[in-house]
Amino acid sequence: MSAVMITRKVRKWEKLPGKNTFCCDGRVMMARQKGVFYLTLFLIVGTCSLFFAFECPYLAVHLSPAIPVFAIILFLFVMAFLLRTSFSDPGVLPRALPEEASFIEMEIEAANGNVPAGQRPPPRIRNVQINNQIVKLKYCYTCKIFRPPRASHCSICDNCVDRFDHHCPWVGNCVGKRNYRYFYLFTLTLSLLTIYIFTFNIVHVVMRSVDQGFLNTLKETPGTVLEVLVCFFTLWSVVGLTGFHTYLISLNQTTNEDIKGSWSGKNRIQNPYSHKNIIKNCCEVLCGPTYPSVLDRRGMMQEDSPVFANGEAPSSFNNPIPQTTKTTAPLIPNEHTPEEVKPSIAFASEKSPSSREKSPSPKEEHPPSPKLPPLASPETDAETSIAKTH
Ligand SMILES: [Zn+2]
Ligand SMILES: [Zn+2]
Repeated sequence: MSAVMITRKVRKWEKLPGKNTFCCDGRVMMARQKGVFYLTLFLIVGTCSLFFAFECPYLAVHLSPAIPVFAIILFLFVMAFLLRTSFSDPGVLPRALPEEASFIEMEIEAANGNVPAGQRPPPRIRNVQINNQIVKLKYCYTCKIFRPPRASHCSICDNCVDRFDHHCPWVGNCVGKRNYRYFYLFTLTLSLLTIYIFTFNIVHVVMRSVDQGFLNTLKETPGTVLEVLVCFFTLWSVVGLTGFHTYLISLNQTTNEDIKGSWSGKNRIQNPYSHKNIIKNCCEVLCGPTYPSVLDRRGMMQEDSPVFANGEAPSSFNNPIPQTTKTTAPLIPNEHTPEEVKPSIAFASEKSPSSREKSPSPKEEHPPSPKLPPLASPETDAETSIAKTH
């Protein structure tokens, strides 16, 4: 059977490895498991709907018309921050291309020398100095990169995420460098909304009970009991979570670092990212620049697929198992990029200073794709893969 190679253009998100799901042609990016996220949506929308249906009409007439207005404003903020956290790239780091991976392997082998058979090779770690503290960079065997400082591999999304905080099933996404502040604002506004609804539920029951009696009030507004129960249990967890993240922000620390005790005294390493000033730490985490996504999900790439004489493409080409992305570089230089890692990407930086010098503009949704080192160039790589298929 004769086959003809057809080159077609596809969006890069279609070929990204990892276990994320994409909607709206790559604009929306989430984790694969979304069941708990739908539960979050249901609880928030359901509780607010009950509040608007049962309490707001009475409170607006008997207390103040501002009560439902504030509730609507808070609700809109909660939903906006939730969707912004859930639907955005948390800061996924691209995997190494096969050529880059083999180059890094070669570097590691050269550094370790010949390890006698039967002996364990030394751990793949690089030490870098950040603000006079030695920080270890670990090698990710899945992404084939030395992770930048503070990055970690999320086993659920199967990606390395920059400034990884934690994977949150409630928002259906990882929480990392690019969506942490929205996650925090979501927990903060949700705490306020929960307290608000809980308080006015109690006020409503008390006011009505004076006129009609307690039992008659509950009979007339059956949603109130449900709302009070949901708010009561949400209150402890969400307010507690907000308090915990406020503490972490004041120290410029992530949940992952807190759990691992990365900066606890026993390691004799102080947090090199902390400004030793609560206000400065809060400003950096909450008001610092927003970083562009380095995935370039909506960028175009070429894909070769063979079409046979009968017009059918083999199933393996229709659903290829993506091993590595051909879209981006393994080590994206950022402010944390250590000097030791720079040599492997320095060549590219010299050739394309714009990638390092251009500071990301706030709120940039679709930034230009990062300039890549020669080995990582999408064109070069595409050519190589095309050559291989021939
Ligand atoms: Zn990884
Ligand atoms: Zn994740």
